Amino acid sequence: MSCIVCRRDHRGFSFTDPCTPPFEHLNTFRACSMFCLDVIHHYWKVGDVIDPTRHETQALALASDKAGEYLESIQKTDLATLTPEEWATFIQTVYETSTGEIARLTDQEAVPF
Ligand SMILES: [Zn+2]
Repeated sequence: MSCIVCRRDHRGFSFTDPCTPPFEHLNTFRACSMFCLDVIHHYWKVGDVIDPTRHETQALALASDKAGEYLESIQKTDLATLTPEEWATFIQTVYETSTGEIARLTDQEAVPF
């Protein structure tokens, strides 16, 4: 099973919704870290995720920088002129940088066992 927040392997953290019937597969949400567990609890308590987390904000800033570096490396600034391969690389850069950075930042707060 994976963390419901970031899709990494869960590490034994979980939150069970006390307001639903006790069917573990339906009301238990697994997490990889205390950080992701906090996101789950916040979502359960507030009912909405309005603001990006500090990890998401930091990861998106890094992804923005990397996307800009990629565009600079191919000397294009107009996204409409990208070839399909360049577009795929651009999207891959944004996706891998942001998810990788979230994973790295989350790892820093994981319990070491
Ligand atoms: Zn997670």
